[in-house]
Amino acid sequence: MHELLLRGGTLVDGQGERRADVLVRGREVVAVGEELNGVGSSVRVLDAGGCIVAPGLVDLHTHLREPGGEVAETVETGARAAATGGYTAVVAMPNTEPALDNASAVRDVLALGRSAMAEIAVAAAITVGRRGTTLVAMAEIAALGVHIFTDDGRGVQDARLMRRALEYSSDLGIVLAQHCEDEALAAGGHMHEGAWSSRLGITGQPAVAEEAMLARDLSLVRETGAPMHFLHISTAGSVELIARAKSAGLPVTAEVAPHHLLFTDAAVAGYDTAFKVNPPLRTEADVRALRHGLSDGVIDAVATDHAPHQAERKEEPFDLAPFGMTGLETSLALLHTITSGHTITSAHIGASGDTGTSAHTGTDATWHDGWPGGPCTPAELFAVVSWRPARIAKLDRASGGRHGGPVEAGAPANLVVFDPNETWIVDPGRMVSRSRNTPFGGMKLTGRVRHTIHEGEAVVVDQTPQR
Ligand SMILES: [Zn+2]
Repeated sequence: MHELLLRGGTLVDGQGERRADVLVRGREVVAVGEELNGVGSSVRVLDAGGCIVAPGLVDLHTHLREPGGEVAETVETGARAAATGGYTAVVAMPNTEPALDNASAVRDVLALGRSAMAEIAVAAAITVGRRGTTLVAMAEIAALGVHIFTDDGRGVQDARLMRRALEYSSDLGIVLAQHCEDEALAAGGHMHEGAWSSRLGITGQPAVAEEAMLARDLSLVRETGAPMHFLHISTAGSVELIARAKSAGLPVTAEVAPHHLLFTDAAVAGYDTAFKVNPPLRTEADVRALRHGLSDGVIDAVATDHAPHQAERKEEPFDLAPFGMTGLETSLALLHTITSGHTITSAHIGASGDTGTSAHTGTDATWHDGWPGGPCTPAELFAVVSWRPARIAKLDRASGGRHGGPVEAGAPANLVVFDPNETWIVDPGRMVSRSRNTPFGGMKLTGRVRHTIHEGEAVVVDQTPQR
């Protein structure tokens, strides 16, 4: 039987860090130890020298755009981008056209995912058409194995409907995930409301638009006892609310997106639509609070909010261009760079290849700040992108899933091999995703995914997708 041997790496999982080779046969890890050799008839050796070998990454928040937005991404291309970034599983968001609000639509995406280069889990909508008025047939959809329900792209505005959805969700053992945005407060906003939005003359959405819905939902969680997950939280006030909810014992989890850990609203100064995202880039105080929240464990996971858009849409004027940026291929490297105390240097290249804009004026302080409490250990880094998100999505082994480790004999072979020392410059033109709307173009990052193993198959070898 065909075997794969990952040789010379350092194994990192929830059980710690040790020097070990990893032998894979079929879809499983069959041996972990020093100086291993294959025993089968054909052994393919992949060099993991100087690398971290860890359970594959799990993304809680990926927009795959299929059905309806295939011009920007498909299940297949999104999964290829995910594998390139070290992900072995992603949760596909339901804001497709039409929305994933019924069992048959969910079944179609799951079927497309079966041949993809990463496991595709699906989050289904909470309300029909994500219109916020009628609940979907949650029980029927949950029966397909769907664990997360969200109207992401929008928050559920109607508190009474949200309360009812939470009551149903606890009976079904599923979790509701909220995109916290009070639409009345956020109306017409294209960036964060603050000093920069006034200076630039762009309508902003205030931090309270996020925090008001978050506070409302935390009250509903307290009342119903139903668990909730909070998507892409972006403000210092949100971190404080989550911290208080957790210390009161509420069953809540939260994620932050990589871009909110790096950029401030000053990045919008060049009107580069690559920096237009929802929730918007916030202030330096928010970036600092999010970093502390992640490092203190108030925030459980980092999720990409990978939001591909075709170039034509992002070339529209700032107030017309859609929100969102890609992230699957840069997330781990970016996170490693900022949590290990490396400085990000950049000759900024916009998504369209233009150089020399003043887009980063004022963000230098953010970039050069060290990580709170000193550099992260590899186990701390991989916890927030692998085993903690695996648990939230119920893709971990304890929940019957195949991700998040630990890496041991008998475990599913979903693995990433990451070289923490390789430096590289992000080139939007060489992205694997069908879309190139990255704000990280031109940045020099430290650390790069070398190989990705999905279900025992080497889907990415030496940074190159194998199909
Ligand atoms: Zn969202």
